[in-house]
Amino acid sequence: MDQQSLNSTPRLVAQSSPAPFFGNILIRYPTTVSLILLVLLSILAVAMLAQERAKYIESQRYQLLQTLTNYASSLEGMLNSGVVALDSIRSELVLQPETDLSNLDARVALLLHNYPYFRHVAIAPDLVIRYVYPLKGNETVVGVDYRNIPQQLAAIEKTIRLGLPVVAGPVNLLQGGSGLVVRVPVQTSDQKNWGVIAAIIPLESLLERANLPSLQQQYWVGLSGKDGNDQADDLFWGDAELLQTQRVMVDIKLPVGRWQLQASPRHELPLLIGPLQWMALLAAVVIILLCSALLLLLRMAGERERALHTIAFQATYDLLTGLPNRAVFTDSLSRVLKQAQGTQSCLSLMCIDLDEFKQVNESLGHVVGDKLLRAVAERLKLLVGEHDLLARLGGDEFVVASALGNAPEMTELMAEKLVLELAKPVQVGDKLLAVSASIGIAMYPHDGMNHSDLLKHADRAMYAAKQIGRNTYHFYDAAMQKEADRFVHLHNEILKGVQLQQFFLVYQPIYDIGSGAFTKCEALVRWQHPERGLISPLDFISVAERTGAIRPLGHWILQQALIDAKHFCALGLPVQMSVNRSSQEFNVHHVADEWLNMIAAAGLECEQLIFEITESLFMDRISVQQNNIIKLHQHGLQLAIDDFGTGYSALNYLSRYPVNFIKIDKSFIVDVASEDKARALAAVLINMAKVLDVQVVAEGVETKAQLDVLTELGCDFIQGYYFSKPLRADDFIAFVRQSATKTPEEGDY
Ligand code: C2E
Ligand code: CA
Ligand code: CA
Repeated sequence: MDQQSLNSTPRLVAQSSPAPFFGNILIRYPTTVSLILLVLLSILAVAMLAQERAKYIESQRYQLLQTLTNYASSLEGMLNSGVVALDSIRSELVLQPETDLSNLDARVALLLHNYPYFRHVAIAPDLVIRYVYPLKGNETVVGVDYRNIPQQLAAIEKTIRLGLPVVAGPVNLLQGGSGLVVRVPVQTSDQKNWGVIAAIIPLESLLERANLPSLQQQYWVGLSGKDGNDQADDLFWGDAELLQTQRVMVDIKLPVGRWQLQASPRHELPLLIGPLQWMALLAAVVIILLCSALLLLLRMAGERERALHTIAFQATYDLLTGLPNRAVFTDSLSRVLKQAQGTQSCLSLMCIDLDEFKQVNESLGHVVGDKLLRAVAERLKLLVGEHDLLARLGGDEFVVASALGNAPEMTELMAEKLVLELAKPVQVGDKLLAVSASIGIAMYPHDGMNHSDLLKHADRAMYAAKQIGRNTYHFYDAAMQKEADRFVHLHNEILKGVQLQQFFLVYQPIYDIGSGAFTKCEALVRWQHPERGLISPLDFISVAERTGAIRPLGHWILQQALIDAKHFCALGLPVQMSVNRSSQEFNVHHVADEWLNMIAAAGLECEQLIFEITESLFMDRISVQQNNIIKLHQHGLQLAIDDFGTGYSALNYLSRYPVNFIKIDKSFIVDVASEDKARALAAVLINMAKVLDVQVVAEGVETKAQLDVLTELGCDFIQGYYFSKPLRADDFIAFVRQSATKTPEEGDY
C-alpha cells in the first residue's frame, strides 16, 4: 500500500514564528499605540505652534519698536526744534536785555506760525510775567509773579540753576487743559539772571501733530516720564491698560531728561495656525486614525485566526503531548484502511498502555503524571516509523498504526522494541521514574475490517498483556473477546445481584488457642444466582475487583456483616468480626470515613472489627489507600494481612504499618504436619510475627495433627474445616454456643 498516505496527518504542531517586537505591540495594543502617537503629535504640534507664536510676537515687537522709534524721533524733533526756536528769542534778549518786549511780537508770531503746537510764549523778566503772545485769551497771566506759584517755582529755579532749556509738565494750565511748559533761562552777558522765557505746548495738539492718537487704533499707547523724570510706570498720557501688558518702549530725549513712548498690541494674538498647518495637523490626525483602525482590524483578524487555530488544534491534537487525538486518528485510520483494502496489504494496530500510571498520578501528582506522559510521547515519536500513525487516545493510552505491506512478522519485532524502550526509566524533574508499558496488537485484516473493531481488539489484547504480567505485548485472539464479553456480562450481573439481594454472608469461626474459645469469625460472601445456583467468591470477586463492581458489592458486604456482628453481640456472643476488603475499595478518597460512619451507625466499636487486606495494599504505596488505612487504624480498627506468604517477599512493611494479625495461607498449612520443611517454614513465619508483635491466624486447618503442630509452634488462632466450614448466621450462633461447653479435644469437629 501507499506508504506516504499514512503520513498525511501532520504529527507535530506548526510553531508560529514570533512577530517582531514593535509589530507585536502595534497589533496587540493598536488603540493605545495610536493614542500615544496622537498625544506625541499634539505635543509636537503645540510646541511648534508655540515656537511660531514666539517668533511672530518677536517680529511684531520688532515692528512696533520701529514704529515707536519713528514716532519718538518725530516727537523728539518737534520738541527740540521748538526749543531751539525759543532759544533764539533768548539770544535776542541776551543781546538787548533792555528792549521793549513788544518788539518781539513779529518774531514770536513767526515762531508760533512755524510751530503751531506752541500755544503761547510768555516772557518773565525777574520772574514776573511782563509779556505774553498772543495776548488774547492770556490776559490773566500778565503780571503774575512766579514766586507766588510754588508749584512752578521749583521747576523755574531748576531751569535757572541748570542754565538750560527744560521741558516740564504736563501741568494743568491756568487757561485750562494740560500742557508742557518749555522754559528757557535768560542770563545777561555778565551772567546775571535776567528771567525766563516760557512757552506752553498743549499736549493734545503736540501729540495730534505727531499723529500719535492714530497709533491708538491698533495699540495701547502711552507716554511716561513727566518732567523728563524717566519714570516708565507713571503715564502722563495714554492708555492705562498698557501697564498690564508686555510693552515696547523707546526713549524720547528732551533737552533735559527723557520721556518714554510705550505701546503694546491692543488685541490678544490670535492662535497662529495658518491653513497649511491646519491641513498638516488634520492630515496627521486622519492618518493616525486610519492607522489605528487598520491595526484594530489586523488585531481582530489575528485574534480570530488564533482562535480558529486553537479550536482547530484542540479539535485535532492532544494539547498535552502535541500528538493527534482520537478523532483525528480514527479518521486517518479509516482512510488508511481503505487504501489497504485496495492494495490487499496488512496493517498493525498497537494499543500502548503504561503500567501503573495511575499510581504515579496519585502518589506523585498530576504535574509529574503529565510530564511523564509528555516524555513517553517524545520517546514514541522517536521510535515509530516516519510513515506510521501515532496518537494519544486519552489517559496513558497511545496507539500506533503501521502499514506493513506484506510483512506482518515485522509487527512482533516492533512490539518487542517498544516494550524494551518504554521500560527504560524516565527522568521527570529530579525524579527517575521506572515505567513500563503493555501493548495489545490487532492485525488488519485478520482481527478486524474496520477501525472500531481493530481498536477494540487491540485494546482487549492490551488487557491480556496486562494480565500476563505487564511490561509485555500480546496479540489479539478470538478467545479473548469471549472472555471480555463474559466480564462485561458478569459485571452487570453482580450489580443486579446486589440490588436484588442475591448475595449473602457466611461466617467461619476462628478458634483462639490461648482462651480455647471461638472469639473471632470471618465473614465470607456467597452468591445465590437465580439460574447458576450458588457461586463461589473465587468466581466473581476477582472480576468484581477488575470491573469496579467490588465497590457496591463490598459496601453491601460490610453493611450486612455489621448487622450480623451487632446481632451476635446482642445475643451475648463476643466475637470479633473479620471482614475481607479488596485493595480497590481503598482507592476511594475518604472511604475510611464512610466505613467508620457505618460502624458507628451500626452501634459497634471499631475494636470489634478486623479488616482483612492483602500485602499489595502496602506495596503499591498509593497515597489514597494509605491514608484510608491509617485513618482506620487511628480509630482502633484492627488489620489482618490475608494470604500471608503468598504474595511479596518483602516484609519490612510489617514494621512500618499498623498490622495486628497475619493470616498464614492454607498452602503453608496443608503439609505442616506431614513435611518437616513445611513445618519449618510455618515456624519461621510464626516466629517472625512474634518478633514484630503481630498475632498469627492459621487458615485452612483441616486436621487435628495440623492443629497440634501449629499449637506447638505458638500459633495464636486457628481457622479451618477442622473446626467448621463457613456457616449461615443462625448456624454460626448455634455453633459458638455449643462449642462453649466443650474443649477442642472433646469436640467432634
Ligand atoms: P480467603 O479470604 O482466604 O478466605 C478463606 C477461604 O478459604 C474461604 O473460601 C473459605 O471458605 C476457605 N476455607 C476455610 N477453611 C478451609 C479449609 O479448612 N480447607 C479449605 N480447602 N478451604 C477453607 P471462600 O469463602 O470460597 O472465599 C474465597 C476467597 O474469596 C476468600 O479467600 C477471599 O479472598 C474472597 N472473599 C470471600 N468473601 C469475600 C468478601 O466478602 N469480600 C472480599 N473482598 N473477598 C471475599
Ligand atoms: Ca480472608
Ligand atoms: Ca486467606
